[in-house]
Amino acid sequence: MSLNSGSKYLLNVGVVGAGIGGLVAALCFSRKNCKVTVIEKTELKGEAGAGIQLSPNCLKVLFDLGLEPQLRHFSSCPKSIDISDWKKGRIIKETRLNPECMGKYGLPYYHIHRGDLLRILRDHAQKRNNIDLELNSEVVEVTENDEKATLILDSGLSRDFDVIVGADGINSAVAKVLGLSHRPQFTGNVAWRALVPKTAVARELDDEKGSLWLGPGKHFVHYPVRKGDLVNCICVAGGRDWRDESWITRADLAELTSEFSQWNPALRALINKIEEGSLFKWALFHRPSLSCWHKKRTVLLGDACHATLPFLAQGAAMAIEDASVLSSCMERDKEISAAFATYQKLRRPRVVSIQRISRVNELLFHSNRLLAPLRDLILKNFSGYTLNNVYKYNALSAGD
Ligand SMILES: Cc1cc2nc3c(=O)[nH]c(=O)nc-3n(C[C@H](O)[C@H](O)[C@H](O)COP(=O)(O)OP(=O)(O)OC[C@H]3O[C@@H](n4cnc5c(N)ncnc54)[C@H](O)[C@@H]3O)c2cc1C
Repeated sequence: MSLNSGSKYLLNVGVVGAGIGGLVAALCFSRKNCKVTVIEKTELKGEAGAGIQLSPNCLKVLFDLGLEPQLRHFSSCPKSIDISDWKKGRIIKETRLNPECMGKYGLPYYHIHRGDLLRILRDHAQKRNNIDLELNSEVVEVTENDEKATLILDSGLSRDFDVIVGADGINSAVAKVLGLSHRPQFTGNVAWRALVPKTAVARELDDEKGSLWLGPGKHFVHYPVRKGDLVNCICVAGGRDWRDESWITRADLAELTSEFSQWNPALRALINKIEEGSLFKWALFHRPSLSCWHKKRTVLLGDACHATLPFLAQGAAMAIEDASVLSSCMERDKEISAAFATYQKLRRPRVVSIQRISRVNELLFHSNRLLAPLRDLILKNFSGYTLNNVYKYNALSAGD
């Protein structure tokens, strides 16, 4: 099965989902002279979500797409992330980020609001003549044969493509329809997220740093976004049995306050500034990478085939890397099945290792008092080595 040679475009690509992975895929394919249609079930208007960490490995792809000025404008550029002990605030490890990442990888390390990142990607996509964005349109069925792949929409209409990219997130309809998905495993962790105006915590926090606090069975991360105007807070507690995975379930502030009532006063002061109604809660599930990411003319990327737990801040980065590598494989190999196979071969070991490190971090971050000295030793001596392997990856030259 090979690519269409009669058209002025290399390929006619249908992308399901205008999340981070879908929009980056659209931009990458557009640059490789493909015609791209992105189909998204929402209006893309909201600002759902909170902060996203953009490490050098994914900024390499985003800067290559010409997005550096916009990203620089909207991002915070943290000097470091300090890992501290939950009670006394003792610094266990300081991970230097800026300007050190520039020296090591030629790229910075950014914190950005998820809504800002999505807006930058969407605006860029809308400027490209060969990208069409169809919003409020849900994909309900996918069919494929040797000649074409077809998306059936909730309106009853259908669209034909040479290739379909399923970038439709953790509950991927594309993966389900193709029989590629499997059941997620509940990790016993519950996460909360909130954005706090910086003015409310000006005295308590250094707005040039991110912080990760570690305690028995729990951890708490906070870092500035929107140039330091907001503080993004993510807290996780293990050993629970509450299993709602939605990103938009509101949480009770009293519950969070009580969870962290014994923690360092600086952290409790930050929690005190969270406004009722701005706190959300969701359950964390582990989704081992699917063993197969593609069929004849349909291929998956991002959370649709390998959602990652948020203990290494690499979920969005993996979707971005996938998009870049997939578009290069499709450009290099004129046989669709061979291109898909190369893409999976290049990407799967990388995401499996990222998922593994995230799971190890879960154990480390939530170590009990007995294991805390071992945790500190590992973080001090090995976390730099691990992060270097994550950040130095070059998606632009994968497979060369
Ligand atoms: C609402 C939300 C908030 C998030 N907030 C954070 C955060 O604060 N921090 C963080 O690190 N990570 C967050 N994530 C996760 C992170 O964004 C993902 O790990 C990463 O972006 C992977 O991107 P993706 O493109 O694979 O999937 P997603 O970002 O989930 O994008 C999938 C897209 O597909 C669309 N879609 C789904 N099904 C269909 C269908 N049948 N037809 C058409 N469109 C469809 C969805 O509406 C969505 O826009 C969030 C995800 C979501 C969905």
